[in-house]
Amino acid sequence: MSIQQVPFITLNRFEPGFRDEFLAGVASLFDKTQFVGGPIVAEMEGNLATYTKSKHAIGCANGTDAIQIALRAVGVDKNDKVLVPDMTFWATFEAVVNVGANPVTVDVNREACHWDLATFKKAVEQFKPKAAIMVHLYGWVTPETLEIRKFAKDAGVVLIEDGAQCFGTEIDGQSVVGTALIATTSFYPAKVLGASGDAGAIFTSNDEYAKNCRTLINHGRTDHYSHGMIGWNSRIGAYESLFLNMSLKHIDARIKSRMNAVNFYEEALKGLPFKPVRATKNVKENGYCAVGMIDPALRPALIESLKKANVGYGTIYPGAMSMQSGAPAYLAGKIDNGNAHYISQAVLNLPCFAYITTEELQYVCDTVKKHF
Ligand SMILES: *Cc1c(COP(=O)(O)O)cnc(C)c1O
Repeated sequence: MSIQQVPFITLNRFEPGFRDEFLAGVASLFDKTQFVGGPIVAEMEGNLATYTKSKHAIGCANGTDAIQIALRAVGVDKNDKVLVPDMTFWATFEAVVNVGANPVTVDVNREACHWDLATFKKAVEQFKPKAAIMVHLYGWVTPETLEIRKFAKDAGVVLIEDGAQCFGTEIDGQSVVGTALIATTSFYPAKVLGASGDAGAIFTSNDEYAKNCRTLINHGRTDHYSHGMIGWNSRIGAYESLFLNMSLKHIDARIKSRMNAVNFYEEALKGLPFKPVRATKNVKENGYCAVGMIDPALRPALIESLKKANVGYGTIYPGAMSMQSGAPAYLAGKIDNGNAHYISQAVLNLPCFAYITTEELQYVCDTVKKHF
C-alpha cells in the first residue's frame, strides 16, 4: 500500500530485538532492586565519555537540570549576567533564572541560525557577563564555535554549551561536547540519543567542575549526611541508564539514518522557495531536525498543504526567547537584530527521525513539490 501519511516524529522505530533486550534488562535490575545509582549508572557514564571523547560525563535527571547544575558548578551566582541565544528552547533561559542569575538574550544570524563571533563579542563588551550559554540547535553548531570559545576564554567569560540537540556532532573532526569546557545534553526520548524517560548529562574537561556537578546533583552531599552545598536531587534512574547503554550501541546507525533524511530533502527540494538549511563543511551534523526556511508570507499555505496530505511538520521555534510572555520580568538586556524573529516566522521543519523510510521521504517531498 502506498504511503498516505508521515508523522513529524515517531519513537517506534527500534532495532530488531531492542524491546526484548530492554525488558530483560529491566527485569534483571528489578530483581536486584537497582533503581537509582548502582553499577549501571557508572557503566553508562563511562560509555558516554568514550563516545563523546569527554574527560568527565555525569548523568543527571534531565537536560534542564544539566544546564542549572553546570551554571552553579562554574560559579554562576545570584544577579550574575548570563548570555543566552534569542533563538533556543525556553529551558536555556529558564535555567539561568532558576539559579538566580539574569539572562541577556543575544541574537543569532540567519545563515547558521546560531551565534556568530561578531555579535557575541559585542554582547560581551556591552554586558560584561559572568557566563554565556552557547546553544547548538537543530543538530549542528556555528562554524565559529572555536573562535567563540577562544574569545570567551580570553575575556574571562565562562562558556557553557547547551548540547541538547547536538549529540554526536563534530567540528573540524572533533567531538563538540568532548572539546567544550563544559557542555550539557538532554536524553528526552525525542532527542538524537533518547532515554526511556527524562534524563540528561553534563560533559566537562575540568576536574573541579566535574566534582561540583557530582555534589550538586546529589543534595550537595560531601558525605551521606554532610552537605557542603545547596544542590538538587537530580540523579539519573537505572532503567534510563540501561536504555542509554543499549541505545549507544545503535547511535551511529540512527544518526546515519537521520542524515540520510536531511540529505534526501536537500537533494529533492532543490530550487524551490522552501530552502533546506545545512551546516558548513567543517561541521559534522547529527540530523536532529530537518530545517528549511521559507518566505514568512508563504509559510501558512505550505503548512496547509502538508496538513492536507497528513504530513507532520514543526516550526522550531515559533517565537524568540525575548518575546515570551515569561521573559520581561527577568530579561537583563538584549541584542536584537531581528534575526531570531525572522527565523521564528520563516522556519519549517519536515519529518525527521531515525529509520524514516525512503517511501516516507519521497511522499513528503512529493507533497512539497506538488504544493509549489
Ligand atoms: C530539550 C532541550 C532542553 C531541555 O532538556 P529536558 O531534558 O527536556 O529538560 C534544553 N535545551 C535545548 C536546546 C533542548 O532542545
